[in-house]
Amino acid sequence: MKRRMFLKGSAVAGVTTLCGSGAAKAAESWMPKLKAPEQQAKLNLCLQWGGIPGSEMTQKLDFLEANGFSAVEIPSGNWPIENCEAMIQAMKGRKLFLATACGPSDFSYAEPEKREAEVQKFLPVLEALGKMKSVGLIICPARGKLSEPGRLSAKELRKDFVENTGRRLAEHAHKHGTSIVLEPLRRNETPFLRQVADGAAIARDTGPGCTVMGDFWHMQLEETSFMGAFISAGKLLTHVHIAGLKERIIPGVHAEADNYVDGFKGLKLLGYQGAVSFEGGWPKNPADPKKGLPEEERIRLIRNMVKLLQEQWAMA
Ligand code: MG
Repeated sequence: MKRRMFLKGSAVAGVTTLCGSGAAKAAESWMPKLKAPEQQAKLNLCLQWGGIPGSEMTQKLDFLEANGFSAVEIPSGNWPIENCEAMIQAMKGRKLFLATACGPSDFSYAEPEKREAEVQKFLPVLEALGKMKSVGLIICPARGKLSEPGRLSAKELRKDFVENTGRRLAEHAHKHGTSIVLEPLRRNETPFLRQVADGAAIARDTGPGCTVMGDFWHMQLEETSFMGAFISAGKLLTHVHIAGLKERIIPGVHAEADNYVDGFKGLKLLGYQGAVSFEGGWPKNPADPKKGLPEEERIRLIRNMVKLLQEQWAMA
């Protein structure tokens, strides 16, 4: 933008602040016109398996349905394989969808055999997720320092992931009706993938079957704008994690810090249909910090989070 144009724009913005709605209307005339998304975005709240009250599969799913949730996130590893049939049965006739499977992964080993073992481990997991009609398998391509011996450099890893490990997993996922979902992390967790836009570019280069997600907890350190980050992912955004922004615990405990409205605006502009899934811990039990919170208190906090997120979605 030319300096004169910028100043002109700034002047109009200044007048808007000073003169109120008449000037705001004038300003609207030069604002970009956005096309409405094909589908209206939905807030599909979701919990991770370990955080859902109840011990039996049906108890957990009943809890989600009765408390304003639309989706469920399961562990990865062998869990999807071992629980595939039971989960298909338990999900029948419910208003829930199976979002993602979440667990550790690492494709940064310098030894090709170790990377191959990682690919082989996940192929049957993807088949099970496809059968369960899951959105996908969350993948963090690398953790820790890539400068350590025995690791690929970031440049080598990107090439190998896009052309080899990630592409083969994505193709397999796509064939079975699911996807791999790249998760950007914080800089202290990985130097490789920190921003949603970068994850989206890796997903695009990897090809069909590869998508990206955003985790509000990581994003608040790594992104300049929640809304901008989500928009940059576009249709490749298939999953969202959420946690308190002051402390990585259930949203609503530090309600003054937990503002997701800007991010939700981005999801609305995309017509986002995926899940917003709580991933984080719980506040300490004031009576005994070693014991964890009693279940009734966790249920109260879950309901408090649902209310907070629904209110902020309405504001976005
Ligand atoms: Mg996460």
